[in-house]
Amino acid sequence: MNSVINEKEIVSYIKELVTIPSPSGYTEQAIAYVAGCMENKKVLFQITNKGALLATIKGKDDSQHRLLTAHVDTLGAMVKEIKASGRLKLTMVGGFRWNAVEGEYCKIHTAEGKIYTGTILIHQTSVHVYKNAGEVKRDDDNIEVRIDEVVKTKEDAELLGISVGDFISFEPRVEESESGFLKSRHLDDKASVGILLHIIDQIQAGHIELAHTTHFLISNNEEIGYGGNSNIPVKTVEYLAVDMGAIGDGQATDEYSVSICAKDSSGPYNYKLRQQLVSLAKENDVDYRVDIYPFYGSDASAAIRAGFDVVHGLIGPGIDASHAYERTHITALKHTAHLLALYLQSKLV
Ligand SMILES: [Zn+2]
Repeated sequence: MNSVINEKEIVSYIKELVTIPSPSGYTEQAIAYVAGCMENKKVLFQITNKGALLATIKGKDDSQHRLLTAHVDTLGAMVKEIKASGRLKLTMVGGFRWNAVEGEYCKIHTAEGKIYTGTILIHQTSVHVYKNAGEVKRDDDNIEVRIDEVVKTKEDAELLGISVGDFISFEPRVEESESGFLKSRHLDDKASVGILLHIIDQIQAGHIELAHTTHFLISNNEEIGYGGNSNIPVKTVEYLAVDMGAIGDGQATDEYSVSICAKDSSGPYNYKLRQQLVSLAKENDVDYRVDIYPFYGSDASAAIRAGFDVVHGLIGPGIDASHAYERTHITALKHTAHLLALYLQSKLV
């Protein structure tokens, strides 16, 4: 196996990334962090009009290019309405279930740049008051934010500068266990962004030699479906999305390996590219699982849908309880990074 990968360095990137609030639509700060990393690494990049970051590193063959993408946007919410009580009704940003954030601490980002803390609660939380607290439907009507300020009326909340359209970010809850697990709400897809940043370090240090000129697209609208479907450089032939592998009943993916996606809701990924990834993994002792994700789409499938003529693929670390209390193991990060390093040094399919 490729020994240039240092999973500890990947974890430290991930820990920094998950603490930067970046629900889709509010990703400037996370992109600025990545831009700072690129400047330190002396990698040329541009920020697109959509707000994504596109970096390019020259390879041995400059006539046919590759593109790797991972996304920094995460799930979140937005203030939909200020209730008469001063509590906030929410609208979701991205796809999740309210029960996955019930009880979660959050931040309210106001238009003037103020940040207030709060908690996402079901209105009928107190069991001492509400007999049916357990059965109440977790929906837009019953979920609200309790702001950590003296707020008793709608006017009180407005006086703080809170208004409809303010972004809400969720507490990242990042924690690393001695047994090698990494937990955080936002491993999707900041785990993969951390892997790509580490890969770029190894390229710049001369430990990975790119077979082809390679673009790194750090996209910022994946959770809402259109992150990586623009600004694809014309010489791009292969487009590989690096995004979490989905774990659950009947899934082959686990928290200890790299998941290679054969098919998701958008249909099959490119067969030849999948086979190349599988044989690279097999020949080099990379622990991998080929899998199918029943309810999933990626920036690679979004690019195909947008009409780009590219070979597309999807791989990533297995993430448990996705879009909720996410967890992976350091070995999944390691195997994903190893497979990417091997792939980048191989010829196009
Ligand atoms: Zn994702």
